[in-house]
Amino acid sequence: MINESEKIYIVRCGETALKGQNKSYFERMLVQRIRKLLSGMKGVSIERVDGLIFVRTGLDIDGTEVLKKVGRVFGVDSISPAVEINFDGMDAETALDEIGHAAADFAMELIRTKGIKTFKIDARRADKMFPIESPMIARRMGAYVLKGCKVLKVDVHEPDAKLFVNVRRGRAYIYETKISGFGGLPLGTNGKGLVLLSGGIDSPVAAFVMSHRGMYIDAVHFHSFPYTSERAYEKVRELASILAGYCGRIRMHSINLLPIQEQIVQNCPEEETTILVRRFMMKIAERVAAEEESMMLITGESLGQVASQTAESLVVTDQAVSMPVMRPLIAMDKTEIMATAKEIGTYEVSIQPYEDCCTVFLPKHPVTRPRLERILASESRLDCEGLINAALENQTIDVIFPKEDW
Ligand code: ATP
Ligand code: MG
Repeated sequence: MINESEKIYIVRCGETALKGQNKSYFERMLVQRIRKLLSGMKGVSIERVDGLIFVRTGLDIDGTEVLKKVGRVFGVDSISPAVEINFDGMDAETALDEIGHAAADFAMELIRTKGIKTFKIDARRADKMFPIESPMIARRMGAYVLKGCKVLKVDVHEPDAKLFVNVRRGRAYIYETKISGFGGLPLGTNGKGLVLLSGGIDSPVAAFVMSHRGMYIDAVHFHSFPYTSERAYEKVRELASILAGYCGRIRMHSINLLPIQEQIVQNCPEEETTILVRRFMMKIAERVAAEEESMMLITGESLGQVASQTAESLVVTDQAVSMPVMRPLIAMDKTEIMATAKEIGTYEVSIQPYEDCCTVFLPKHPVTRPRLERILASESRLDCEGLINAALENQTIDVIFPKEDW
């Protein structure tokens, strides 16, 4: 009997399936995340059976919405809208007849919606107690489809559509498309990190790739108000809300760096401005991370991209803090980073031309090979601790939720 009272989706967990003992933990986290994302929809139920996740919704729930939401869950390898046939209590021949007719109806629908002319059956028997083996199931299904859809032909090499038939205990599933997810690991399986989020292209991608490995994300943003505008800040909020669609709610700390920048400009060599500002950013971020119980800092730096990202500069920047600094884009080319930004939807926002705090007081000839002793000597002319405390006292915190249409 075809289940016509619900919409059904089969969700496959990619890498999570490989994780030995952790498998069940990862799957539970994945189910939890999917449940949370679909919680606003009526009649949703989620069930984990032998390494697959079955999502069911009421018939009136928009399928594209479900696919979009579940497709964005880290840990989901792919998702397929499916037809379910319940053959509980039937003998194998009757069951096959039920499944065969459903397969023919399914193919008919594909002729109507996609104009397919050729097909191939890919049959799997997940329940080894079912007495008919996969190759035979495939052959029998093919015969039902050919009989039911006279215009169709079999093409095993380049079919217009592949019909997957998955026979499980008491139930069979038919589906055609596998919509790819992002893979990775479910959120919450790898602690929390604090991203230094600018309005640029790189840092949102850095946050995404770390979160893709199961990490919750919070953010710190530095501005130089009133040199940087309210609109520039809005842009960063918008980036954070896109990210939140993947990595969940983000607490974003905003910190005015202007008083620190002014002190640096007045007291230190001009060419050191950039590296000194970056070290302050790191130190402040480390304090924010400790407040938020984040385990590491995340930046969008990429080796050699600009003066502040030479190997020497990165080392001197790192030496400002004792917390580990993750730079997931370190060896990526800009084109690769841009491709990811486009894929995740941050690119169009990132390229909006608003000023960043780093462009205020930009030195003409920044040092590209800073020496730690010199930098420390410059910092000794400043009341670092006082400046950092003041910056933290004046911070604002926004809780950023996913964009509504996501
Ligand atoms: P992005 O595209 O992420 O801005 P970028 O290539 O422009 O990076 P920089 O401006 O040198 O490089 O910044 C390097 C990293 O420092 C950024 O990826 C980000 O993690 C951090 N950063 C820079 N500016 C800010 C800011 N205003 N607030 C928070 N973090 C920042
Ligand atoms: Mg930048």
